[in-house]
This record gives sequence, C-alpha cells and structure tokens, in this order.
Amino acid sequence: MSFEEDIWFEETTPFTPAPELEQPEPELEETLSKKSGRKKKAIWEHFESIGPYKSGHTGAKCLYCLKTYKNAKPTDLEDHIANQCPKVTADIKTTYLRI
Ligand SMILES: [Zn+2]
Repeated sequence: MSFEEDIWFEETTPFTPAPELEQPEPELEETLSKKSGRKKKAIWEHFESIGPYKSGHTGAKCLYCLKTYKNAKPTDLEDHIANQCPKVTADIKTTYLRI
C-alpha cells in the first residue's frame, strides 16, 4: 500500500512549550512612539529609512517597488502601501487599507 496516512498526523504534533518565560517588553523599544502608545512605526517594516537629510527630514525607500520619499511621513508611507505600491503583496495592502 502506498497510502501514507501518517501525513495527516504531522499537523497534530504535540506543542512543546518554549523553555523561556515571556519577558516583559524592554523599555528601549520605540521610545519615540510613547505619545500614541501604539506601534505606529510598523509601517517602517516595509521601508528602509534614508537620511536624515540636512533639512532634518528622514527619507524612506519602499522595500518592494523601491520608490523613495524624501520626507517620510507615516501617513504617506501607509498610503503608498495601501494605494500606490505596485509590488506590495495583497496581504500587506489589506492591513493598511483598514486604517
Ligand atoms: Zn512601494
């Protein structure tokens, strides 16, 4: 018989708990976003930061279509991912369309 029914059981592998306990989030993370308290900077997962320029602005480069912004405002970046980027995956796009 070549029926490999065992395959079905692979998904039910018993979960082995990680030996480490969950640590509280380090305070170093995202000190700049304290105002909103939310991870507003998640948009930066999709951009590479450039600069800062002499003007004081921070630039951004889209990791997907490589478009660059000289003054990277989070709202612009989100708009780019949601409405403009030709290469971003539908999954990511949907995330930002909801905002
Ligand atoms: Zn893009």
